[in-house]
Amino acid sequence: MTSDPNVYAYRGRHLLTAYHDRHQHIPNVDLSTVTPVLQNPAPSPDLPVGVIGTGTAGLYTAMIFESLGIDYHLIDADAPGRVGGRLFTYHFPNGGPYDYYDVGAMRFPDTPFMKRTFDLAKNRNLKLTLIPYILQMIAPSANTWLLYNNARASNQVPSVTDDPFSVSSYVTDSSLRTPQGVSTKVEEVLQPFRDLFRTSPAGTPDMASAMDVLFEQTNNFSTRSYMFQNGTSADDINWCETIDKSTGWYDRAFTETIIESLAFNWPSTPLPGPEQPKSDPSQGWYCFDGGSSTLPQAMFKSLSPQAQQDTEFLSPVTAISRDPTKEVMRLSINGTQSPREYSAIISTVPLPRLSLMDLTGVNINDNYAQWSAIRELQYGPSVKVGMKFSTPWWETALPMPIHGGQSFTDLPIRTVVYPSYPAGAQPQNMSKVLIVSYTWTQDAERMGALINSDGTARPELLELIFRDLAAVHGVTVDWLKSFYTEGDYFAWDWLHNPLTMGAFAFFGPGVYDTNDVYSEMLQPAARGKLFFAGEATSTCHAWVAGALDSAWRAVDQYLALNLPDYQQKFWDLWGPTEYWDESDNQDLIALNRKLMERHLVIGLHKDGVKME
Ligand SMILES: Cc1cc2nc3c(=O)[nH]c(=O)nc-3n(C[C@H](O)[C@H](O)[C@H](O)COP(=O)(O)OP(=O)(O)OC[C@H]3O[C@@H](n4cnc5c(N)ncnc54)[C@H](O)[C@@H]3O)c2cc1C
Repeated sequence: MTSDPNVYAYRGRHLLTAYHDRHQHIPNVDLSTVTPVLQNPAPSPDLPVGVIGTGTAGLYTAMIFESLGIDYHLIDADAPGRVGGRLFTYHFPNGGPYDYYDVGAMRFPDTPFMKRTFDLAKNRNLKLTLIPYILQMIAPSANTWLLYNNARASNQVPSVTDDPFSVSSYVTDSSLRTPQGVSTKVEEVLQPFRDLFRTSPAGTPDMASAMDVLFEQTNNFSTRSYMFQNGTSADDINWCETIDKSTGWYDRAFTETIIESLAFNWPSTPLPGPEQPKSDPSQGWYCFDGGSSTLPQAMFKSLSPQAQQDTEFLSPVTAISRDPTKEVMRLSINGTQSPREYSAIISTVPLPRLSLMDLTGVNINDNYAQWSAIRELQYGPSVKVGMKFSTPWWETALPMPIHGGQSFTDLPIRTVVYPSYPAGAQPQNMSKVLIVSYTWTQDAERMGALINSDGTARPELLELIFRDLAAVHGVTVDWLKSFYTEGDYFAWDWLHNPLTMGAFAFFGPGVYDTNDVYSEMLQPAARGKLFFAGEATSTCHAWVAGALDSAWRAVDQYLALNLPDYQQKFWDLWGPTEYWDESDNQDLIALNRKLMERHLVIGLHKDGVKME
C-alpha cells in the first residue's frame, strides 16, 4: 500500500461540505441535545437491531455489532445460506476446484480506496487467500484480441497497423484509427483532471482544492457532452466510447468516468491508458482464491453460531414502519402474517429494490428529497455469461496462448475475460471456465433480454455467443463447440435480478453536487431509527470497499443517535470514516465528526424532529 491519497474520501468531504453550505438555514444545534428527544419514548431494550441484507454491507455491519456486543438480527430474501449478494461465485457442477467464475465482483486493486476490502482479506481469522489477478496482459505477451468493424487485431502493440479496423472513413480525427490513438485521446480528455490529483516527488497536491475544481468543471457534464463541447465530433466520441467503454457509458456523469479512471490507474504511475494495471506490484490487482464468495462466507462464519442460526433467509422485506407509541420498528416479510420488531433498522438493500418497499410507515414518501434520491439514482446494468469447456482451449490450443486479461469487440459479447487463476498452474489444472461475455450499460440491457432468472438463457443467446467468440479468436464455431457440452453455461443479468435491479450505482450528469441525491441517502429516517447502507450510499460506490465503508458510516450514525457511549470503542476497533481516513490527522477526524453530526441534524430536522 502506498501513501496515495484516497480520492473517494475527498469526494465524500466535498459532497458533505457542499450539502451543509446549501442547508445553512437549518439550525446548527448540538447533537447531544437532540438525542434525548429521540429516546422519548425509549426504544424497547430487549429488541435487536434489524439488519436487512447479507451482502458485504450487511455482514460487515453484523461483524461490527458483534464486536461491540450489540444485539442484531440478519434478514435476507435470498436462498438459505446464500450470503454475499453481489459477491456471487458460480461453481459449475462436476467441475474441478477452479471451474468457477465470479458473476459479480471479481477483481480488487490494492489501492488506498480499497483499504477496508484488503483489511478484511488479510484478516487472519477469516483465512482467505488473495491471488494476483491479471487485468490486462502486457506486450509482448498480450495475446488477447481486439475485433472491431469486423477486423481483428492482436492486442500486442507491435502488430497493430495504421488503421487496423478500417475506420478511416468514419472517424474525423485520423489519430483515432488505432486503439493507441483512442487511448491517447481519452487520456487527453481525462488528463487535466487526473493531473489535479497527481502525486509527484514534490508531494501530494491540495486534494480538497483539486476536488473543488473537478466538480466545478465536470459535474454537470456527461462524458459525451464534455467531449462534444471541447470540439470532438460525435462520430469520434462514439468511436472512443466503443473502444474505451460500453454503449451509452459516455452518457453518464463525466465525474464517474474520471474517478473510475483514477481507481483503475492512479496518476502517480507512468503507464499510459485508462485501464492499464499498475507497474508497482504492491498496487496490483488481486482476486480471491476460490472466488469472491469466499469473502462473505468467511465473514458470515466469523459471526457467533447463534447469530448464524438466527439469520432469516427467504424473507423479502416488503415494508418498513415505525410505531411511534412504543418506539418500535417493524419489518413486513412477504408471505408472513406478523411483522418482525426491532429497536432500529439498518437497510443494506440496493436502492432500486428499496424503492419498491412500502415506506409510508417511516414517512419517506413525505420527505421529497430523500424519496427522490432513492427513486432517482441510476444503477448500471451488467450481464456476465460463463461457460465451462472440456479444456482451457485459450491456454492450450491457440497459436498464441492467453493467460488472464481480456479481449474486446464491438460485437454483442463485448468483452471476454480469461481466468488468471490458479496462479502458476500447469494447463491440466487450469480453470476451464471462461467469461464469454461481460457487458455493461445498453449492451447489457440487450443481452439481458435473452436471459432467464434461473441462470439459463434463450438458445439464440448461446448461438450468438459462439458466433462472436469464434470471430474474436479467429476459429470456427464447430471447433469451439468441440470443447463444449450442452448446458455447461451460466448466464446472469443483474438488472433483472429481483434482489438488486441493477449492478451498481452509476450517477448521471449533474446529480452529485448541485443536487442532493447522494447526501440525502445518507440521512437517517424514522427519527433516527432507520439507516441506509450499501454500495450506492458510499462515495466509493460500485466497489466492495464502498459497501464496507457505507456499513461503517451507518453504524456510526446509529451509535451517535442511539448509543453514543459505544462510539469510542467502535472507532478504536474499526478505524475512522471513509471521508477522513487519515488516522494520524486528528484535526480532520474532529472536523469530520462535526460535519457528520450536522448531517444527522439536518436529516432529523427534515424528518420533523424539533431542534430547539
Ligand atoms: C457485475 C458486477 C461486477 C462488479 N465488480 C466489482 C469488482 O470487480 N470489484 C469490486 O470491489 N466491486 C465490484 N462490484 C461491486 C460490488 O459487488 C458491490 O459494490 C457490493 O458487493 C455491494 O454490496 P452490498 O452489501 O451493498 O449489496 P448486495 O451485495 O447487493 O447485498 C444486498 C443484500 O440485500 C438482499 N436483499 C435485497 N432485497 C431484499 C429484500 N427486499 N429483503 C431482504 N433482503 C433483500 C440481497 O439478497 C442481498 O443479499 C461489482 C458488481 C457487479 C454486479
